[in-house]
Amino acid sequence: MKLYPWLKKKYKKIILQYLNKKLHHAIIIRSNIYIGSNKLIFFLCKKILCTNSKNLFSCNECQHCKLVESNNYPDLHIINTENHKKTIGIDYFLSFINQVYNTSKLGKKTIVWISKTHCLTEATVNSFLKILEEPPLNTLFFLEYNSFFKLKKTLRSRCIIYDIHPPSQKQGIIWLKKKSNTFSTKNLLISLKLSENSPLLAKKILYSSLWIERKFFFKKVKKSIKKKNLLNLLNYFPNHTKKKVFWIYSLVLDTIKFYYDKDLKLINSDQKKLIKIIQKKNKIKDLYIIINSWKKCFFCLNNIAKVNKKFILLEPLILWENIFHF
Ligand SMILES: [Zn+2]
Repeated sequence: MKLYPWLKKKYKKIILQYLNKKLHHAIIIRSNIYIGSNKLIFFLCKKILCTNSKNLFSCNECQHCKLVESNNYPDLHIINTENHKKTIGIDYFLSFINQVYNTSKLGKKTIVWISKTHCLTEATVNSFLKILEEPPLNTLFFLEYNSFFKLKKTLRSRCIIYDIHPPSQKQGIIWLKKKSNTFSTKNLLISLKLSENSPLLAKKILYSSLWIERKFFFKKVKKSIKKKNLLNLLNYFPNHTKKKVFWIYSLVLDTIKFYYDKDLKLINSDQKKLIKIIQKKNKIKDLYIIINSWKKCFFCLNNIAKVNKKFILLEPLILWENIFHF
């Protein structure tokens, strides 16, 4: 298993700080989109727990490395959400912390890895803050955190934050091409743009049914415009609803860009025909209203629990159909 090329620099920086005994005991790995933070933390844990290696990476051969690989290292505690829950409750969290205090040590270090920091409940965060004030000896805390979610200032201030970023589009395309050359550069670029430049998410789009589904969905958008019935699109949202809302949002955004400058780089560069149709039939001021309604819809789908999807989708669709110049 290799570390993703765009994470190597950050890995080296953190490990050098650890080797120079300057690494803070609570480390937040922050990103705004999934680009492999879990792999970065895994590599860091393995190196820190390895007993054999003198270079920057773990040896992959000692007993400690093998135990980490097989997820059996007794002093590496990975805290995920509880089964069937979306949160990390205080009792569940403290059961791990008790293990840190009460189990014998295999090596010199203990690591607590919180994989979804945004899922910590308020009570858990408060309890965690007290632990960080007087942390257990020789213990490191790694917190994986997606900056899309809010995080208590007090927790941020007790940790050191390392930001990780997606690679450039050029680097992303090189990496995707190494994985397979089935797709054209144009399609690789579209999938990267749709994934906020995360090569991992772009790969997921390309190699799942999503790529075909996206093309099919845009065909239906075209057809619904032709039939002067945008509400008809409601039938095509049941699966991957959030993704489809994002696709349609990106399509309207492309149309706005196209309005001002036809040479601007579009996200959906394979959908120019459709973008031109939308541009012809919508005033620019209306496009701003439309894009805001899709943005609101996306926000609701992301932030409201048990949301009635149909109801949320109806609003932007009705609004658009009413102001669309068919
Ligand atoms: Zn080792």
